[in-house]
Amino acid sequence: MISVIVPCFNEEEAIPLFFTEMEKVKRKMAHELEYIFVNDGSKDGTLNILRQLAKQNNFVRYISFSRNFGKEAALYAGLQAAIGELVTVMDVDLQDPPELLPQMIEMIESADIDCVGTRRADRKGEPPIRSFFAKKFYQLINRISDTEMVDGARDYRLMTRQMVDAILELTEHNRFSKGLFSWVGFKTEYISFENRERAAGETSWSFWKLFNYSIDGIVNFSDAPLNIASFVGAFSCLVAVVAMIFIIVRALIFGDPTSGWPSLVTIILFIGGVQLLCIGIIGKYIGKIFMETKKRPVYIVKETEKKLEQ
Ligand code: UDP
Ligand code: MG
Repeated sequence: MISVIVPCFNEEEAIPLFFTEMEKVKRKMAHELEYIFVNDGSKDGTLNILRQLAKQNNFVRYISFSRNFGKEAALYAGLQAAIGELVTVMDVDLQDPPELLPQMIEMIESADIDCVGTRRADRKGEPPIRSFFAKKFYQLINRISDTEMVDGARDYRLMTRQMVDAILELTEHNRFSKGLFSWVGFKTEYISFENRERAAGETSWSFWKLFNYSIDGIVNFSDAPLNIASFVGAFSCLVAVVAMIFIIVRALIFGDPTSGWPSLVTIILFIGGVQLLCIGIIGKYIGKIFMETKKRPVYIVKETEKKLEQ
């Protein structure tokens, strides 16, 4: 059996489209399918649609959160609930083409691989500035982190039970799935497809949300910023010592007590800035540690399809 995990946040328009599309694909497959929709605290009619779907089809399950916990939490909940031998995660907006699934299944069953990922061959239809920063992000993170992240790779992937269990063993609170999928290792192969627009509804990712998400990715998978902070600190110390010697020697030779005020202010401002920056970087990591030590659950379930059976 294959488990299909679908995170949904305000997707009342997209879910019916997705379901019909997916059912079409299912007819071409020899496998049994279970759907696990995760309602991530939607404010529209998403939950009602899911209730209906689950009532009409016994292979549809859903998990509904008590509030919006984010896509990462939704994926985690779905992976925990899945019982299939193969598990796939898919966006509901049809940006992850369901028709690729048969090909992915074939690949994972014929070759000796544990995961088939997908990547967008292009970023057509996306604002250029977003593509630019996305590209820079992947360059940066791959340079400073040991965990490889593939540019353009989507969360859409098909995994074996073994790999899913490995991911479930990572119980951290700050979940950056792209990194986690890669961190657990296993053999992954990618297939490319052309970028497509959302079938319905709107993206819930603003530029700032994406920016913060990328900072999360860096902080969760690399300690390079801390090293950079130490390096900048050490470097400015060195410069300060050289400048000090220079100033003392100059004062001894020329004896010029009042000049040098502007340079002094500049130096104070510079050092102050460096210190604040470094404290900020350290603060980011401490914030993450703070969240982890509280050991709060990643999500809270309010309702599942079991309620319908009662
Ligand atoms: N999503 C979610 N929780 C959120 C935001 C998004 O479960 O807080 C889901 C959303 O319903 C969709 C998927 O994550 O199925 C991808 O979201 P979206 O299409 O908005 O992102 P994009 O494709 O623009 O990156
Ligand atoms: Mg989308």
